[in-house]
Amino acid sequence: SKHRLENIDVTETTCGYCSVGCRFEVYGKDDEFLGVRPTDAEHAPANDGFSTCVKGKFGYDFVNSEDRLETPLIRENGQLREASWEEALERVVEELSAIIDEDGPDALSCFASSKCTNEEDYLMQKFARQVLGTKNIDNCARLCHSSTVAALKQTVGYGAMTNRIEDVANTDCYLITGSNTTGSHPVLATRIKQNVRDGADLIVFDPRKIDIAEHADQYTRVEPGYDVAWINGLTRYIVWNDLHDEAFIEEHTKHFDELQEKLEPFTPEEVERLCGVPPAELASAAETIAAADTCVFGWAMGMTQHSHGTQNVLALANLALVTGQLGKPNAGLSPFRGHNNVQGGGGDMGTLPNTLPGYQPVDDPDVLDAFEEVWDERPPAEVGLTVPESFTEAHEGNVRGMYVMGENPALSEPDIGHAEEALEKLDFLVVQDIFRTETAEYADVVLPAASFAEKDGTFTNTERRVQLVGKAVDTPGAARQDWRILQDLANRLGYDWSYDSPAEVMDEIADLTPIYGGISHGRLENEGGLQWPCRDADDPGTPYLYEDGFNFADDKARFVPADLGEPNELPDEEYPLTMTTGRVLYHFHTGTLSRRVEGIMSHVGESFVEIHPETAEQLEIADGDSVTVESRRGSTVVRAQVTDRPDRGVVFMPMHFAEGAVNELTQEAFDPISGIPEYKVSSVRVSRSETP
Ligand code: SF4
Repeated sequence: SKHRLENIDVTETTCGYCSVGCRFEVYGKDDEFLGVRPTDAEHAPANDGFSTCVKGKFGYDFVNSEDRLETPLIRENGQLREASWEEALERVVEELSAIIDEDGPDALSCFASSKCTNEEDYLMQKFARQVLGTKNIDNCARLCHSSTVAALKQTVGYGAMTNRIEDVANTDCYLITGSNTTGSHPVLATRIKQNVRDGADLIVFDPRKIDIAEHADQYTRVEPGYDVAWINGLTRYIVWNDLHDEAFIEEHTKHFDELQEKLEPFTPEEVERLCGVPPAELASAAETIAAADTCVFGWAMGMTQHSHGTQNVLALANLALVTGQLGKPNAGLSPFRGHNNVQGGGGDMGTLPNTLPGYQPVDDPDVLDAFEEVWDERPPAEVGLTVPESFTEAHEGNVRGMYVMGENPALSEPDIGHAEEALEKLDFLVVQDIFRTETAEYADVVLPAASFAEKDGTFTNTERRVQLVGKAVDTPGAARQDWRILQDLANRLGYDWSYDSPAEVMDEIADLTPIYGGISHGRLENEGGLQWPCRDADDPGTPYLYEDGFNFADDKARFVPADLGEPNELPDEEYPLTMTTGRVLYHFHTGTLSRRVEGIMSHVGESFVEIHPETAEQLEIADGDSVTVESRRGSTVVRAQVTDRPDRGVVFMPMHFAEGAVNELTQEAFDPISGIPEYKVSSVRVSRSETP
């Protein structure tokens, strides 16, 4: 909803940073973003009376930033120069058509964006599949929770958070692991800390003593890369001591015997040997979890970004199932998603190489029939390339063109050096973004798009809640909304797209996506956010999943035993330290947005590496020294922060910076099931640098 205050527009909308999905009002005048104010609790179930976080409050200078792209750019004689829309779009049409004529549509690859709206991402996958006819569509969720999706689909049925933020805020007990919740999901962390102050138990297992650990009843440090060991160890302890929920297992699950067999080796002693967790700490955590009426299992990239990320999440799902913590309020499995719309635009909308919208398999003939009926074109029936596979194929010359909407793979891909070579090799690269990102520097055509504040549509937050996004300010210069750009291109390529508004796009989504079947902009306006599955106009949505059975034909969850995997790279004489990566509170992802906010840069303005005091002493490094961090892939110079947040022998680097970029160091090792890269464990060496 929208109203005017003198000559200022006040628009209710959803935060464009993280997936908590806080709602607030934006004050805007023409193309200027003046500020935000939390909206009343009734319309803001995620922030429910809580104020927005520092990113939500001050992080919006980027909307007004002078660096915003205001006109299309095209490459000429090696340089990007300004161009008209007509010229830029014609160039895109010519080049994409030429590649299709020469090598077929699968020589093209499209990347959708977890920052864009559901409507835009739906259109991006439609553009790829219907207009270009390529099977290659993916997005950066590949790099964050693809392993979560893979594991939860196998065990409980939907690749999504099973519960509500409200449940996370009201549970009796937490196991949080691999999530720097305070830094990454600030308002959620505030609600968790509040609940802990009111008496809930908080258990944190993490290699790094992050802020949320300071609030925990039990913090246990683990060695990076061996999470299956301690999670299986917890589950084994619970089952072997008869603390499991037998009735739940009997009634709602399958394959418990196989699980027990696989758990056998994970004795407390073996767990200690594998990952350093003392048996007493394993026992106390297991007993607290088993005794709790309700328990929430929360995790993020620390669990998922491993070459065995899917196994980690399988282990967590098994733990939640043996304790019967699913299908009821205030309990459940809570993957904390990253981007504002990674759940919707990065998953639900079918911007994935193996699923059409609503996680419908690309090779299911009935599903393909339904899409063909509406699109007049049958989507490709084969599984396409993931983001990392597209880069590999670009290296080989098999992918010749890429269309990248609202992503920055030149900084977010593991082993940047390798990714840059792939971008250089492309015959044609289109980047559609609001800034001239690191990736745009490789582009042949750059199309200026709209920020979240300049568009109508919806985002789906981490709890599956679809919420409206409202246009609060005008796009700067000649920049255009992403859906309009895609529609224009589709029509130039011979199709007949005639959407008048994102609301009409949502109607098509609802038509083709059973879990979104009852969602429309009209209902969202009248009723507030709706949580999927929401199958028809009378369905009030689903606050928590699996109350009436799991998402399989027989309603039963499946135990899928988790195998212990080793990190791909282990420390050795040459590279003796283990490096892990993550976020800091003030920044966001590759920093494209937050690095442009002055108030944020004055807090955390440059990259750094955290080193334990004992390790620092051995290396003769003092706090504030300039140091070189090297891996087998590359090296970077950053400042040392001497702190006991990481363990001895482990160093930590944030992921938000182009200078001192951590992905110069990370490796291309992938989880075989989900394709997620192993960002969280690399071997490095650190030395004092000569360069100041
Ligand atoms: Fe925005 Fe997330 Fe902060 Fe809420 S917690 S204001 S959604 S960045």
